[in-house]
Amino acid sequence: MDAQLADRLASVDARIADAVRASGRSSSDITRIVVTKFHPTTLIEELYRLGVRDMGENRQQELTAKVDALGDYADVTWHFIGQAQTNKARAIRAAADVVHSVDRAKLADALDAAAADDVLDVLLQVNLTDDPDRGGVPPAEVDALASHVAALASLRIRGVMAVAPLHDDPARAFERLADSARRVRAVVPDASWISAGMTADFSEAIAMGATHLRIGSAITGPRPTRG
Ligand SMILES: *Cc1c(COP(=O)(O)O)cnc(C)c1O
Repeated sequence: MDAQLADRLASVDARIADAVRASGRSSSDITRIVVTKFHPTTLIEELYRLGVRDMGENRQQELTAKVDALGDYADVTWHFIGQAQTNKARAIRAAADVVHSVDRAKLADALDAAAADDVLDVLLQVNLTDDPDRGGVPPAEVDALASHVAALASLRIRGVMAVAPLHDDPARAFERLADSARRVRAVVPDASWISAGMTADFSEAIAMGATHLRIGSAITGPRPTRG
């Protein structure tokens, strides 16, 4: 057992609790997802023994391999948080419990077409930067995407997701995300999730109303290089 991993997890959880208290929110509103990308399955096993049940991955092949390897962890919720190619939709749907990165109608259609008889939880990823390559729907197109996805029977819109831009005040970026979240709720009233906050900015995200934090390196330590 990696004592440092347990210490880092406890210290992040204490900082989450502080931010939750400071913002007058309730810890039951917050889901802490540990982002395990690039790390081996042994790390996921250790996190599981420490009580972690929400894991995040950003590449389909890695997600699929880890879910296959850890198939007996039926009570883990797997969050797919990466940019998704349409031709990977079937594999993503087979492995993920929640897809945070639905950012275009074509991807939503492909995920819907891959349905068996289940309903998949999805978030609409919003691009908070001016760079169209960053992934995410432009804020001005969020309403149209929400209406499109809401009409797909096998997808359930739970809310929005975003990554704060590198060179911007995260609090201001998250305010723009909160605005997109309100616009999605105008289409789907119970879409209350806001997936925001990483190692560098989870306290700001909690203050702004995030419900799902995606925290990697502060808990796992530095990521191994892609190899
Ligand atoms: C890697 C990643 C994270 C976690 O990043 P850290 O800075 O290590 O906490 C969160 N969200 C997405 C989309 C990621 O790709």
